Amino acid sequence: MGLLLKLALFGVAIYAVWKTFSRWKGLYDRFVGPPPEAPRPPPTAPEPSGPQQAGARPRIIEETVPCKVCGAYLSSGATQCGRPDCPLP
Ligand SMILES: [Zn+2]
Repeated sequence: MGLLLKLALFGVAIYAVWKTFSRWKGLYDRFVGPPPEAPRPPPTAPEPSGPQQAGARPRIIEETVPCKVCGAYLSSGATQCGRPDCPLP
């Protein structure tokens, strides 16, 4: 009889442990929720590469105005084209 009693107690203990485990697992799932999905990397725009990027360097283009008399292109800030015979001041 002692062996049967031990087996019965063992079965009850296993049952109790299993019930406790499932109960806590249910609480955990309720509060924490399902595991989140792995974060996906955001879609990144393809970077320009190769000669296209080399030619796309930012260039400073000065605004030029042609000299009305001699036709030389001057920057808008210049007052004289540099020619010795330029009539501009
Ligand atoms: Zn000029």
